[in-house]
Amino acid sequence: MFSLTGRDVHQGTDGWIPVYVDDTQSLCVMSIGFLLNNKDEAVVWRGPKKNAMIKQFLSDVVWGQLDYLIIDTPPGTSNEHISVVVNIKSISPDGAILVTTPQGVSLSDVRREVSFCKKILLPVIGIIENMSGFVCPHCSVSIRTHTMYMYTP
Ligand SMILES: [Zn+2]
Repeated sequence: MFSLTGRDVHQGTDGWIPVYVDDTQSLCVMSIGFLLNNKDEAVVWRGPKKNAMIKQFLSDVVWGQLDYLIIDTPPGTSNEHISVVVNIKSISPDGAILVTTPQGVSLSDVRREVSFCKKILLPVIGIIENMSGFVCPHCSVSIRTHTMYMYTP
C-alpha cells in the first residue's frame, strides 16, 4: 500500500528503526514482511515464535512519540490476537476496528471477533465493510463501497 516492498529495517542503538513512508517522518511502518527474504514467503512459525515477534514489535521498535498505533492483524481470533491484546493492555488501547466483506464466511468471522472482543473487554470502535461496492470499468463511478458502521453493542 505504501510501496515499501524490499525496504529494510535497521538496528539503532535503542532498537529497531521502523520504515518511514516519506521524508516528513510522520508515518512509519513495521512488518514481518521487512524481515522476510521473499515477499511471497509464508510465515510458518509456531505460536511461541509469533508471540515473541509481536512482543518485540511492541517493545523493541523505536516508535518515538505516536498519535496513533494501528496494529493490522490477520483475520480470526487466534493466539496471535490474544498475544497482541495481552501485550497492549498496559497502554489502554482505544479498541478494535473489525474489517469484513459482504460474504457470509467473512461476516461469521466478524461475529466471532465481536464476541472475542467482548470477552477480553476490548471495545469495538467500528466495522469496515470492504468490497461492498462496484467500480464501473467504463466510467469509474463507484457504487457503495468501503462502508464504515459504528458499532453499538
Ligand atoms: Zn459507468
